[in-house]
Amino acid sequence: MNKKKILFLMSDTGGGHRASAKAIGEALEYLYPGRYEVIIEDVWSNHMPWPMNLLPDTYGWLSGPGKPLWALLWMVTSYRKMQSAMFTSVAPIIKDSVASYIASAKPDLCVSVHPLMNHLGMKWIEQAGLNIPFITVVTDMVSLHPSWICPEVDRCLVSTEEAKDRALKFGMPEEKIAVHGQPVSLKFSRTRGKKYEFKEKLGLDPMRPAVLLVGGGEGYGQLYKIARRISATVSRAQLLVVSGRNRKLKKRLEQANWEIPTRVFGFVNNMPDLMGASDILVTKAGPGTISEAFIAGLPPLICGYIPGQEAGNVKYVIRHRAGSYARTSRKIAKTVQDWVDGAGTNLQVLARNAARLARPNASFDIAADIHKFV
Ligand code: UDP
Repeated sequence: MNKKKILFLMSDTGGGHRASAKAIGEALEYLYPGRYEVIIEDVWSNHMPWPMNLLPDTYGWLSGPGKPLWALLWMVTSYRKMQSAMFTSVAPIIKDSVASYIASAKPDLCVSVHPLMNHLGMKWIEQAGLNIPFITVVTDMVSLHPSWICPEVDRCLVSTEEAKDRALKFGMPEEKIAVHGQPVSLKFSRTRGKKYEFKEKLGLDPMRPAVLLVGGGEGYGQLYKIARRISATVSRAQLLVVSGRNRKLKKRLEQANWEIPTRVFGFVNNMPDLMGASDILVTKAGPGTISEAFIAGLPPLICGYIPGQEAGNVKYVIRHRAGSYARTSRKIAKTVQDWVDGAGTNLQVLARNAARLARPNASFDIAADIHKFV
């Protein structure tokens, strides 16, 4: 049987877009074994002409120290006229490179998991001379950027009712939208209620509450300060610090003198194990990480967010009493201390509320939806 080809258009800005595409690919293989060839392509870095291909490399800076500039860009490009001027002006410059790649890949269906690949993606498919279904899977959880919404796509899959409302507001016809949840790896559904098993697997102290610090795929500069403050404040805890792809941060963390048992990791491939073993997650408001934590029944304490696309995630967590937000390292450490001591906030209640928001079948539902279009 000839495999059908599904091409995921994405770019490695942060870790979430690739993680989502991989999760949907995993679910397609699970539900329809051997029927699909899944290609996940960073079309921006690999097929855009120079110097546009270098843009994704600036994202680490823009989402960290350059946040004010990111906030401005996000706001300005949210205006419909500005957006259409932007896409219309870059489309002719980039058309040959990307469209010819897509023509050579010959997909049977395209899925965009990136805000910049929807309007442009539809153009590329047309320029490639293909007449195939095009599906958007929005990987921002709540406050999605308007560029995600191209009403001409065949289907638009979102994570939350809030995201659906925004998609409707930006002109997506209601019949094209489905709310399936955030596509995350199937491995997270095996994490709930097995804390001691996972602690044992990782060689952690079973008696100490484990605090997992995650800074997203790019790493988060403030993580060092936060980790140091928790270590100095919460003497009963143990720390797991994930510095992502930020090598400088990892080195700094490894050289520190920790007051409590602490493990430092770079980019990890066993996030389900780490979440399964942990009692509290301290993270920036990445939609992938937060949705994975919900599945693991792990309450997130949000320590930062990228303006625009992650701002809604903070409100979402707070509104559902599934976690909290604290900005300074002092407040973060104090909140962790309160949660560990059960002072005021009951960690079990937060964990239950977080688990209520979980959509462990999201990747399956998205895969089944895509399958209908092939
Ligand atoms: N992640 C991972 N290993 C790491 C750091 C992050 O697998 O060392 C994963 C994390 O589990 C999540 C994704 O990378 O699936 C990060 O996505 P998110 O949407 O939270 O944030 P982004 O990095 O896209 O801003």
